[in-house]
Amino acid sequence: MSKIIAINAGSSSLKFQLIEMPEETELAVGLVERIGIENSVFKLEYGDQEDKLTTDIPNHEKAVALLLEQLVASGVIKSLDEIDGVGHRVVHGGERFTDSVLVTDEVIAGIEEVSELAPLHNPANLTGIKAFKEALPNVPAVAVFDTAFHQSMPPESYLYSLPYEYYEDFGIRKYGFHGTSHKYVSERAAELLDKPLSNLRLITCHIGNGASVAAVKNGESIDTTMGFTPLEGVTMGTRSGSLDPALVPYIMDKTGKDVNEVLHVLNKESGMLALSGFSSDLRDIEDKASQGDERAELALKIFAGRIHQYIGSYACKMHGVDAIIFTAGIGENSKAVRERVLEGLEFMGVYWDPARNDVRGKEAFVTYPHSPVKVIIIPTNEEVMIARDVARLAQ
Ligand code: ADP
Repeated sequence: MSKIIAINAGSSSLKFQLIEMPEETELAVGLVERIGIENSVFKLEYGDQEDKLTTDIPNHEKAVALLLEQLVASGVIKSLDEIDGVGHRVVHGGERFTDSVLVTDEVIAGIEEVSELAPLHNPANLTGIKAFKEALPNVPAVAVFDTAFHQSMPPESYLYSLPYEYYEDFGIRKYGFHGTSHKYVSERAAELLDKPLSNLRLITCHIGNGASVAAVKNGESIDTTMGFTPLEGVTMGTRSGSLDPALVPYIMDKTGKDVNEVLHVLNKESGMLALSGFSSDLRDIEDKASQGDERAELALKIFAGRIHQYIGSYACKMHGVDAIIFTAGIGENSKAVRERVLEGLEFMGVYWDPARNDVRGKEAFVTYPHSPVKVIIIPTNEEVMIARDVARLAQ
């Protein structure tokens, strides 16, 4: 038995989960918000208890110290000696990290090196790693990368049709993201299908605020919709997804915005928010669409339509598909989006049942038992995946 903390550190926040292995039991979950801003908030949930504390937390070191102190003070653990490992989510591993790794000085330098590819995320992830290294110097730490699972993509999937030296000199290629989630649901799908993962063609749809679809053949990601950055691919909450790159200078010319401002529009002011005209949150959009709002309806059509298109594309690429998986906030909860994504897929062997699709937030088969292609809802669990990698690598 061992206890592992899974960490997701952002620039002003730190989310954590304490997990008991190998049972994979969640002992406590919490977060620190507004780090470095006044009135920082600390929350800790364990059993049926919820502790909340508002105080000034100036930096990640103090956030980590408080979190460790509270884990002991709340009685979740008796002493810090009970913590056997820490796992850190790191957004970008570039081409260097193809799997999770034990954190060493060399690994920290490697993460710093690829920070150029994820300037907002990697430095924040590193502050979390360094803060824990200081607080628990003798506890093994593992870095788990969002990009690692997609490193199995072949060049014909990851190369853009650009001058080849751009790839060689600048690392310009598709990396893909949400890898930990795509991997988790792929492994779980194999269990639910009772078939070896090494013999399955899966299309995994991670649809939340950020969204990506992946083609997972024989357990390996062979293509995914996000690219050099998470902006590429399907329409998302506030991201445009793929578009004609010639639009960037055209928008600059028409609006007078500079290139960073246009990028901000594409990342933060586009997608469902722009299409609906009022919200990036799918629940709001579904509500309005059901009241007959045409823009909300159009946003839903475009959103689901892009995912539908990629399912066709990936089924084609893998010469067929055994199962389609839905996960993350929207994939797990929205029967309306799943319905629209799956509409008309009977031609490729997807026979789904509206009654079975009427579920939310739990594992379920959406297809009839006789359907040759299965559709499964699988709630994702990136923290468990992180804890598994810590358990595997820290031994
Ligand atoms: P993130 O990418 O931020 O992790 P999530 O996976 O949490 O995103 O997904 C957030 C999205 O899930 C939001 O658009 C939200 O509206 C949607 N969502 C959450 N619960 C429901 C629900 N019960 N019905 C429909 N959509 C939901």
